[in-house]
Amino acid sequence: MSDLLVIGSVALDTVQTPFGKVTEALGGSATFFSYCASFFTQVRLVATVGDDFPEEHLRLLKDRGVDIAGLRVTAGGRTFRWTGAYGYDLNEAKTLDTQLNVLADFHPALADDLAHVPYLFLANIDPVLQLDVLRQMRQRPRLVALDTMNFWIQGKRDDLMRVLREVDVVTINDGEARQLAGEPNLVKAARTIAAMGPKTVVVKRGEYGALLLTGDTFFAVPAYPLESVFDPTGAGDTFAGGFMGFLASQDRVDAATMRRAMVYGSVMASFTVEDFSLNRLMRLTSAQIEERYRAFHELIRLEP
Ligand code: AMP
Repeated sequence: MSDLLVIGSVALDTVQTPFGKVTEALGGSATFFSYCASFFTQVRLVATVGDDFPEEHLRLLKDRGVDIAGLRVTAGGRTFRWTGAYGYDLNEAKTLDTQLNVLADFHPALADDLAHVPYLFLANIDPVLQLDVLRQMRQRPRLVALDTMNFWIQGKRDDLMRVLREVDVVTINDGEARQLAGEPNLVKAARTIAAMGPKTVVVKRGEYGALLLTGDTFFAVPAYPLESVFDPTGAGDTFAGGFMGFLASQDRVDAATMRRAMVYGSVMASFTVEDFSLNRLMRLTSAQIEERYRAFHELIRLEP
């Protein structure tokens, strides 16, 4: 088992779906990611919040065993806020408002012990910060993965291209893969993104599952068929949490382990969408994770 370092957003999310609404609920790419990955391995979080951030949220991460020594509470600062909405097609989030607040002038300084962590996830955040953290690593991690979204693809494309050149894996949703590649066909888009640097491209396709491309080899996993999906927010980050958490727990990055990691990613995302914010994850047990992993085997088994 190896440690896993993540930098990303810790947020207060206001989210409307056809099934309800939450206001200033716990969210953020690094929050969803670290909470999920902590079921698999030791996670160390680098992020910032303002002093308006509820103490109970910090306790939640701590109680899961996430190392939050690298989470800076900026005195007098306001926490990052995101407001989003989904229609009946839950695959696409519509961003209504993004307030970077403390993220706008965050300059993470990695403590010595964090600069040697072997697995690194650059969760969705300003690509300038992603590159900054990657450059502060004293030892090249065994695996570096990155996630991003339309906000940064549009706003900071050059910086994103710079950091993409240096990562091993990119996880990205289908709409954003098309946008980044400038290519409507998903297979071609994944190949175009691979040519930007990452050897491995994981395209998350919401209720249609996820696609893995390494070299010339594709692998696909379905999404778990659920009767009730309440809020897809965080599905992408928790997919990445299961994927990276599993790889770090095995300390392996070979093709077979990556395939199993894809299934764990799907498993974790399937729980997240069953409730708002981290509510379903807060009731999750390792036994339930294993049970759903086994259910995936049945789902995709070819021979009866
Ligand atoms: P996803 O897993 O793709 O559904 O990501 C949802 C999370 O991304 C939400 O909890 C938001 O707080 C966070 N988020 C939204 N916009 C941004 C942004 N521009 N930078 C960093 N995080 C964001």
